[in-house]
Amino acid sequence: DAFFVELPKVELHAHLNGSLSSATMLELKRFHADSGLEDKTNAFFDEFQIGAGDTRGLSDCFQVFSIAHSLTSTPDSLALATRLTLQEFQDDGCCYLELRSTPRDTPHMTKLQYIETIIKAIRKASVHLTMITTLIVSINRNQPLGEADEIANLAIECFKKYPENVVGIELSGDPMAGTFQSFIPALTKARGAGLKVTLHCGEVCNPKEVLEMLKFKPERIGHGVCIHPKYGGTDETWSLLCKLKIPVEVCLTSNVNTKSTPDYDSHHFQYLHEAEIPIILCTDDKGVFATSLSREYQICVKTFAMTYSQAARLSLNACQYVFAHNTRKMLNDKILNFIEKHSL
Ligand code: IMP
Repeated sequence: DAFFVELPKVELHAHLNGSLSSATMLELKRFHADSGLEDKTNAFFDEFQIGAGDTRGLSDCFQVFSIAHSLTSTPDSLALATRLTLQEFQDDGCCYLELRSTPRDTPHMTKLQYIETIIKAIRKASVHLTMITTLIVSINRNQPLGEADEIANLAIECFKKYPENVVGIELSGDPMAGTFQSFIPALTKARGAGLKVTLHCGEVCNPKEVLEMLKFKPERIGHGVCIHPKYGGTDETWSLLCKLKIPVEVCLTSNVNTKSTPDYDSHHFQYLHEAEIPIILCTDDKGVFATSLSREYQICVKTFAMTYSQAARLSLNACQYVFAHNTRKMLNDKILNFIEKHSL
């Protein structure tokens, strides 16, 4: 439905390497071949996408990212991946993208070069794109603590150097690995320097950790599946979220395809919505889950019997929670303009 593409949308939860579409992956493979780089993806290239009814669960999903990683290990291929992905988000009607990615040391670049390559690709693409893109630096909870501290320092360094481009820091990776507590010092340091924080929270049942995370008062949380008692949370986790009203980045298809939730109908979206907790619809990994933000809006409308007007207002509301404060008014005006033009 063209309406969902035309509706100006903000994407606030998109992991770069999980967002690579099949077309982008193929282009990266060609690029690798042309550059004479070794391509180790042939044997398992077809395993990158995780569709509905796939037998793989959440923990298996973390293995597929290595396929994308092997195609973004040089500055040139990473820049290409960023450029193509930005174009795809814009073509899908996004007016603002908060891209996130985990800096990696590869044989071809350091973590700092990794971040700067993405920033430069964003700046270059911005010349011809109308969509605004900013970067959230990711910490993988599966990595050693020293690495988290190093990434926090790099995020701060890049935030100071490129304040227009770097806006936040986030904690992601396999939710069964590591403990949130151990990452508090690194996250606190980054927050102290002015970076906004978003945390993957409640992807698996762990009410103790959910409480610790909510008490940290991140600016936003990702997923928030296991917070309501019906979904593996407790009365305490749910009432604290209701009290704090921390905005939740909701990724419908990601949750269904990784079996965090059995199906769209029983997704916790409805509980968040009824409790008036701010919701931002997002894709998470549009490449892995073969989706798009417009498709997520369409699925939301269909599943929860919403009107087009309600969908447009969901997008309008979401722009209040973007980390780049200075863009909020412009985004608000753009979406409001669309709403008025279409008498929604
Ligand atoms: P990258 O940070 O650009 O390399 O994107 C892929 C990475 O994002 C993965 O290796 C994970 O650490 C993280 N990620 C992607 N999807 C999820 C998710 O659903 N939960 C937690 N972490 C995720």
